[in-house]
Amino acid sequence: QNGLVENYTFTNFVEGKSNQLALAAARQVAENPGDSYNPLFLYGGVGLGKTHLMHAVGNALRQQKPDAKIVYLHSERFVADMVKALQLNAISDFKRYYRSVDALLIDDIQFFAKKDRSQEEFFHTFNALLEGGQQMILTCDRYPKEIDGLEERLKSRFGWGLTVAVEPPELETRVAILMKKANQARVDLSPDAAFFIAQRVRSNVRELEGALKRVIASAHFTGRDIDIDLIKDSLKDLLALQDKQVSLDNIQRTVAEYYKIKVADLMSRRRSRSVARPRQVAMALAKELTNHSLPEIGDSFGGRDHTTVLHACRKIKELRETNSDIREDYKNLLRSLTT
Ligand code: ADP
Ligand code: MG
Repeated sequence: QNGLVENYTFTNFVEGKSNQLALAAARQVAENPGDSYNPLFLYGGVGLGKTHLMHAVGNALRQQKPDAKIVYLHSERFVADMVKALQLNAISDFKRYYRSVDALLIDDIQFFAKKDRSQEEFFHTFNALLEGGQQMILTCDRYPKEIDGLEERLKSRFGWGLTVAVEPPELETRVAILMKKANQARVDLSPDAAFFIAQRVRSNVRELEGALKRVIASAHFTGRDIDIDLIKDSLKDLLALQDKQVSLDNIQRTVAEYYKIKVADLMSRRRSRSVARPRQVAMALAKELTNHSLPEIGDSFGGRDHTTVLHACRKIKELRETNSDIREDYKNLLRSLTT
C-alpha cells in the first residue's frame, strides 16, 4: 500500500496561471526524481491542488518504474506511526522503513508544528533521503518560514530544493476545471453554465467541485437539463450566502464613516490609535464577512502583510471581550453591514 490516489494524475490536472509554476516543477521532478529539485515544497491554501500534484508525481514515478517504492502519507500519519513505533520499541524499524523508499511524499507538514520528537525523527529521515538522492515532496498550508513551532533547521532545509506557491485559480482556470470535471463525469455542461458557476464559486477547487457535484446530482434526480435555472435552484443556499456578502470596499467606507475618518486613513501607514483601531476593526469585519483570504484583505488595506490582518483579528476578538466600546462599535457595524 503506497497511499497514492490513482486519479490524481497530471492528465487530470488543469493548468492555469495560478498553478503553472507548481505544475512545471512537479513535472520536472517526475522526470528527474532526486536530482532536479529536492525537496519539492508546495505551499498554499486549502483545496488548491497541492495533494493532487504530489500524487501526480507519485503516479508518474510509479508508471515509469512499477516496482519503485513510492510512499505517500499525511504528516499526521507520520507522527502517529512514530509514536506507535516508540511504544513498541520499534523505532529502528520505523527509521529503516522510511529510509528505504525511492520517494517520500509528505502532506500538510504544518502538522509537525510543536511535535518536537517527530521533527527530530523527520529531520534525520530528511537528511538520509537527501543524501541518498531519494526524492521528497512536501506540502504545507503556508510558507514554511511562517510555521510556528517548527525548528529553524527544518525550515531552512525545506528551502534547499524548490519552494513553490499554489495560488487560488482565476476565473478562466475555474471554468476550465469545471468543464474538465463535467467531461470526466460524462455530463454536458455548457460554457455559459460553467462560467455562471465559476463566477460565483471563487474560493477554491474543492468548493468548485462540490458545487458541480450538487448541480449534477440535481440534474440527475430531476431529469432536468443543466441550465442557469437548475444551477440557481441547486446552489440556492450557496448563492444566497454570496448575495449577503459584503465587499471590502463597502466595509472600509462604512467603518471610515462610523469613526469619522477617511477611507484613505485606513490604507495609510498612520499608526495613531484614532486610525489604527478602526483599521483593525475593519480588518476583523473583512475576515468575518467576506471570503477574502488574509493576504487579500491585507492588500486592500494599503498592501499590508497577512500577519497584520491576523493580528488585527485576534486583537479585536480580545477587545470585544474586554472593552465595551469596541464591543458596541463592532455590533453596530456588523448590523449596518448585514442588514
Ligand atoms: P489541497 O491539497 O491543496 O488542499 P487538493 O489537491 O486536495 O487540494 O485538491 C482539492 C480537489 O480539487 C481535488 O479533488 C483535486 O483533484 C481538485 N483540483 C485542485 N486543483 C485542480 C486542478 N488544477 N485541476 C483539476 N483538479 C484540481
Ligand atoms: Mg491537501
